[in-house]
Amino acid sequence: MLTLRNLVKVYPGPVAALRGVDLEIPRGMFGLLGPNGAGKSTLMKILAGLLEPTSGEVTLEGMDLVRHPEQLRPHLGYLPQEFGFYPYLSGQDMLLYLLRLKGVSAPQGLPTLCAELLERVNLTFAAKRKVKEYSGGMRQRLGIAQALAGNPKLIIVDEPTAGLDPEERLRFYRLLAEVASERTVLLSTHIVEDVAMLCPRFAVIRAGRVVAITSPTEAKAAIQGTLFEGSVPPAQMAAFQQAHRITQAVLFEGRNRVRIHAPSGAVPAGFEHVPPTLEDAYHLLMRDVPAESPAPAALEVAR
Ligand code: ADP
Repeated sequence: MLTLRNLVKVYPGPVAALRGVDLEIPRGMFGLLGPNGAGKSTLMKILAGLLEPTSGEVTLEGMDLVRHPEQLRPHLGYLPQEFGFYPYLSGQDMLLYLLRLKGVSAPQGLPTLCAELLERVNLTFAAKRKVKEYSGGMRQRLGIAQALAGNPKLIIVDEPTAGLDPEERLRFYRLLAEVASERTVLLSTHIVEDVAMLCPRFAVIRAGRVVAITSPTEAKAAIQGTLFEGSVPPAQMAAFQQAHRITQAVLFEGRNRVRIHAPSGAVPAGFEHVPPTLEDAYHLLMRDVPAESPAPAALEVAR
């Protein structure tokens, strides 16, 4: 269990990136979903021991990670948002270099471990190819290979699917799901589909605060029966937006297909009831929580 208690981070400015985050994260996959600027990377960097929180506690199975980040290192795998690869190294040499840097010990030798890890992430076929020739998905899989080294209890991955094409994304989801069967994997993302596909539980974070802890099923069940879909002519869109709570608007065959949240059931002619998606639930959660709320006491002290 990874436990976060009243975690606060104030950058100079001051910018309140985390305003008192409380979370209990069990084994398996756990999502951290929020828009850009919500504080996800800040949280991930604190967990990775790269950034000190202003105040608060983080414990992994009882180990205090804020006071003793060195205790955590052997138990942690981290795939940051910006992963620095050397483009002219082969995948195999890059991984070997990263394993040395991480100080991983391998009874059978690092090259053997390297080969095992490449096999695990399905990259054996490209072991000798230069990293610059790898696709986005292959790079992310190499990133997971280094995160897996040392068999960590906790793996944190920050926005790992941004920039992957649909096929690569699916492949990467499968790998993450497999990896999460044996440990805690914390997945930070602004992509609702990542959570819908992978996370039995997730937290929604906005403006440095956790605004919901739920599951995709629960989040959808909470708005069951309140979503309707229909077409709106482009010229009427602005007025429609004022009058209704739109959760999604997409162009479909050149027409505006609009989904609205209408718990009363009073909907315009032609609108039909539709089952809710996680995207609808996320949109409503984001809308219902004010972006700016009073700063916690620790924040006032930090100022
Ligand atoms: P996310 O990963 O959810 O996009 P971040 O953790 O990167 O969010 O950022 C949260 C807030 O903290 C944003 O307002 C961002 O501008 C700010 N921030 C992030 N890093 C720094 C920094 N090094 N100095 C000052 N402000 C920062």
